[in-house]
Amino acid sequence: MSQPSVQPSNKQADHVIELREVWKTYRMGDQDVHALAGVDLDIERGSFWAISGPSGSGKSTMLNLLGCLDRPTAGKYTFENHDIASTSDDQLSDLRLKHLGFVFQNFHLIPQLTVQENIELPLFYQGIDPAETAERATAIAERVGLEHRLGHRPTELSGGQQQRVAIARALTNNPSVILADEPTGNLDTATGDSIMALLTELHDQGKTILMVTHEPDIAAYAQIQLVMRDGKVESLTQNQNPTRPATRPQGTHA
Ligand code: ADP
Repeated sequence: MSQPSVQPSNKQADHVIELREVWKTYRMGDQDVHALAGVDLDIERGSFWAISGPSGSGKSTMLNLLGCLDRPTAGKYTFENHDIASTSDDQLSDLRLKHLGFVFQNFHLIPQLTVQENIELPLFYQGIDPAETAERATAIAERVGLEHRLGHRPTELSGGQQQRVAIARALTNNPSVILADEPTGNLDTATGDSIMALLTELHDQGKTILMVTHEPDIAAYAQIQLVMRDGKVESLTQNQNPTRPATRPQGTHA
C-alpha cells in the first residue's frame, strides 16, 4: 500500500539505473554503520526523482553511488548497463564524464575561471578540439540564459546565475542523467523556482533527473518522491500532479 507501483515490472522498461539489494557499510571503530541497507530501485530513463529523508538516512551515500563516485559494499548497482562492481576506476570516471552531470548546492565553480571556461571544463578533460569546445559552451550558455555573461567570473554573478553556470557545465557532455544535490539550497524562493524551471525543461527534453532536497515545494516538481530512512527506502510515491514552472526559464535571468 505504501509503495505504489511506480516501478513497472515490464521487462521492456528502459532502466538507466538498477539497484538490487544494495548495501553500503562503513566501519566506525568496532561498529558497522549501514548507510544503505538493502535498497532495490529501478530508475526509468527520462524520469524525475526527488530524494528526501532525515539527516543520516543515507541520501548522500545514495547520491554518491548513483553518481558512480562510489561502489556498493554488497548487492548490484547497474548504471547504463554497466555492473559498477566490476568497473575499473578509469572506466567509472569515463562513465561519469560521458553520462552524468552534477549540480551542487554550493555550485562548485572554479573562481579563477570565467563562465565560459567553467562551462568548457568537462570538454577540456575529454580533449575536445578548442574551437568545438567554445562553440558548444556558447550554445549551452544560451540555453540557460547566460550568453551575456561568458567573460564574467563566478564572483561577479548572482547565486541563481552561478547555479545556471553549474547546470550549463553539467550539460556540456549531453549526459543522460543529472544529479542535483539541494540545487536550490542557497537560493531565495524566486531564484530557486527559476532553477527548478530550468531542471523541469531539461526533464521535458528527456533527461533523467535525480535530485536530493529537503524542501517539499522543490520535491513537488518531481514525478517520483523517494523518502529514505535508516539506509532504506521508506516510501516511494508517484506525484500525479508535479509543479509546472510559471514562466519559461530563459526569460528570467535570476
Ligand atoms: P544523509 O545524506 O541522509 O545525511 P549519509 O549518507 O551522509 O546521510 O549518512 C548515512 C549514514 O552513514 C550516517 O549514519 C553516517 O554517519 C554514515 N556515514 C556516511 N558516510 C560515512 C563515512 N565515510 N564513514 C562512516 N560513516 C559514514
